[in-house]
Amino acid sequence: MSKYKDTYRHRGMRRQLIKKLRRKGIDNEKLLEVMGALPRHYFFDTGFDDWAYKDVAFPIGEEQTISQPYTVAYQTNLLEITEGDKILEVGMGSGYQAAILHDMGAAVYTIERHESLYLRTTRLLKELDYDHIHTFLGDGFQGLPHLAPFDKILITAAPDKMPVELQNQLSVGGFMVFPLGGQHESQQMIRLTKTDGDPVIERFDYFRFVPMVRGVNKAESE
Ligand code: SAH
Repeated sequence: MSKYKDTYRHRGMRRQLIKKLRRKGIDNEKLLEVMGALPRHYFFDTGFDDWAYKDVAFPIGEEQTISQPYTVAYQTNLLEITEGDKILEVGMGSGYQAAILHDMGAAVYTIERHESLYLRTTRLLKELDYDHIHTFLGDGFQGLPHLAPFDKILITAAPDKMPVELQNQLSVGGFMVFPLGGQHESQQMIRLTKTDGDPVIERFDYFRFVPMVRGVNKAESE
């Protein structure tokens, strides 16, 4: 843990970021408290600490990005997390979003298709004592059928069609939040609620996400 230092300066930058999220309309107090407490710079390479507290997406390798703080707040808010919710995240990336879900009180299962990111982030989460975030290397389109059903599913990359297979892994009354759309356009945030009959679809704002891609990408061996 010792290499992770949360200084007065970091905390100051974080307070400013939280103020900005409030100004942009995020009013979920528990979420603002959780985002205000978690050092986002731990999820960045050393030397980029200041970038961690700007409201922008940032490269994490493999042409992927850690989502913009506003986007993390927006998606997390739509999940309406209650203590003990069992959540599947598709697109673990840096692990920041998974840590936020955990700190909101959820039991988190997160899946990543890039082996290099999976290995790096699994190690980081362990170093940060997130022993209860379960990480998986795999294709999120398949989900984790052996661990279903989930109360909530969060997709942090954009599928260009409704990810129907994943609906089957939701419990009735559960939500799936995901940005829908191809890469030539911005993607609309969707919340799908599973019911006994047809799912209920709600549509929200537009965002820019990296694409949700099929298959696993193995790390280059030495
Ligand atoms: N939640 C992440 C955001 C990372 S960007 C964070 O907080 O940092 C989206 C991630 O989704 C990328 O790491 C990308 O590799 C991953 N991804 C894209 N398609 C996927 C799929 N089918 N299964 C699993 N992960 C996928």
